Amino acid sequence: MVGSVGRLFIGVDLRSDTRQALAALLAEDGVGRLPGRVVPPMNWHLTLRFLGEVEVVECDRLLMELAGAHLGNSFEMVFDGLGAFPRRERATVLWVGINEGESQLQTLAGVVEEAVAAAGFPSEDRPFRAHLTLSRIRPPQDVSTVIAATGVVRLRTRVDEITLFRSHLEHGGTRYEVLESFGL
Ligand code: ATP
Ligand code: MG
Repeated sequence: MVGSVGRLFIGVDLRSDTRQALAALLAEDGVGRLPGRVVPPMNWHLTLRFLGEVEVVECDRLLMELAGAHLGNSFEMVFDGLGAFPRRERATVLWVGINEGESQLQTLAGVVEEAVAAAGFPSEDRPFRAHLTLSRIRPPQDVSTVIAATGVVRLRTRVDEITLFRSHLEHGGTRYEVLESFGL
């Protein structure tokens, strides 16, 4: 597509120590046993806003709006426990939830949505639900026992920036590229 910068989304990247600690916590419980198409730890992130294919002009506007947005102060969040969308008995997405920091993430997603709207993108109608996707399951499966069998997955970390990612859907798997980060 002429003039396209690719498939973009805005999210919260994980610090490498957080990524490692979370991977270690899950490995103790056998992350290898998770059902579905497991997201490799290097790809773990929280999506704030998925954009899809974006044109160069739109991307320039978006970068400007994000740079000027009042993103608020950095904050702590706590990953706490596994869950599933739309429900455990018929899961398509297995995730790690956020306990402390969830309301700040919600607020941040709202500010991002305003910037995205100001940049001219159509608004998102799906409500924001903060989560870290661990695996995508097709067809849906009952993950109740997987969740019950997983021990305590609790980890505190700091959110001090948001990131504009470009997603490359490659044969070997999806690869994310950091286009720009914006400090809180
Ligand atoms: P793959 O598509 O290969 O499974 P992925 O889903 O991680 O990889 P993308 O499809 O580019 O890569 O998605 C990037 C991020 O945006 C992911 O967190 C994904 O869950 C989220 N996302 C993708 N499509 C949508 C959508 N339509 N609405 C909301 N979030 C989405
Ligand atoms: Mg996808």
